Amino acid sequence: MKYRLFPALLLFVAMGFTLQQDDEAALQKRAQRLHDRIISIDTHTDTALELIKPDVDPEKVQAGFAKLRAGRVDCCFYPIFVGQGPLDEAAEANVFAATVDKMESIRAYILARPREAAIALTAKDIERNKKRHKLSLVMGLENAYPIGRELSRVKVFYELGTRIITLCHNYDNDVCDASRYPEKTWGGLSPFGKELVREMNRLGILVDCSHASTQTLQDCLEISTAPVICSHSCVYAIKDHPRNLTDDEIRAIAAKGGVIQVTTGRWALSWLPHAEVNIGTFCDHVEYIRRLVGVEYVGIGTDFDGGGGMNGLEDASKMKDITVELMRRGWTDRELALFWGGNFLRVMRAVENAKK
Ligand SMILES: [Zn+2]
Repeated sequence: MKYRLFPALLLFVAMGFTLQQDDEAALQKRAQRLHDRIISIDTHTDTALELIKPDVDPEKVQAGFAKLRAGRVDCCFYPIFVGQGPLDEAAEANVFAATVDKMESIRAYILARPREAAIALTAKDIERNKKRHKLSLVMGLENAYPIGRELSRVKVFYELGTRIITLCHNYDNDVCDASRYPEKTWGGLSPFGKELVREMNRLGILVDCSHASTQTLQDCLEISTAPVICSHSCVYAIKDHPRNLTDDEIRAIAAKGGVIQVTTGRWALSWLPHAEVNIGTFCDHVEYIRRLVGVEYVGIGTDFDGGGGMNGLEDASKMKDITVELMRRGWTDRELALFWGGNFLRVMRAVENAKK
């Protein structure tokens, strides 16, 4: 009896395994087909600074063109990150000149590859580039430090293609207070910071409150005539890190029509050791925001080449695996289309309309 059951059991296990393989192959296929139709956007990387280094091997960076294409990413943000320096006019003027140089260099890098990619200035540009099978790159600035207290510099960055400014990094600057710096110099936005937000609204530049303090975020939500976003931030209720967003902050961003772009660095995702943090952990943050405020208010900003990435998502070439994981969790194509780019494009259009 025992011997007759054994082959049957083997057959049963083998069938189960084949079914699972079929499921997996079907999911991969469904994900590929979905990415043909939708627009996927990564709203934060530090890749620009890597690509403009002399003798760079673009294959070695986390979000170079080839890896973005392999991962089915249609649009990637290439802001220039600026570390915080002393708050004096001379230092700010120097860093402004250096930042303009860097932005010109990354523009030249992209413009030298017109068959592969283009700089996108509007939501429409991103949609058009997708149809032409071109990667969209969006210019930006991470840390308003180089602006100093010279409002005219905002226009210079705008003319270079900047469509997003992350107001600060890890320290307070002339514009606002940062989340990780205890000083809280201004108690939110400085008087100049308020002028800056109005100028960004006027020009059509997105206000990015990743790295900003709670009061800075609240001030921006109050002053800005357009929705405000966090381009690379996670959920505080899952990991109580000062850079992450509390439920109240998430609700306030959503209430103004903005979007929370979840980041992929282990530092933001979990206190667990590296080996235990993976795409599932990232999706837990995404699903938390979906449950709290709705699927219309969540997206992704990887922070590749700036601390982003983890097990299973080592670089942009793996991005499609997020789609597969969310499909496993029952996400519909409509929800995935919103998460990958629909939500962010809504915000970008709102910023463009507020300008009008
Ligand atoms: Zn950052």
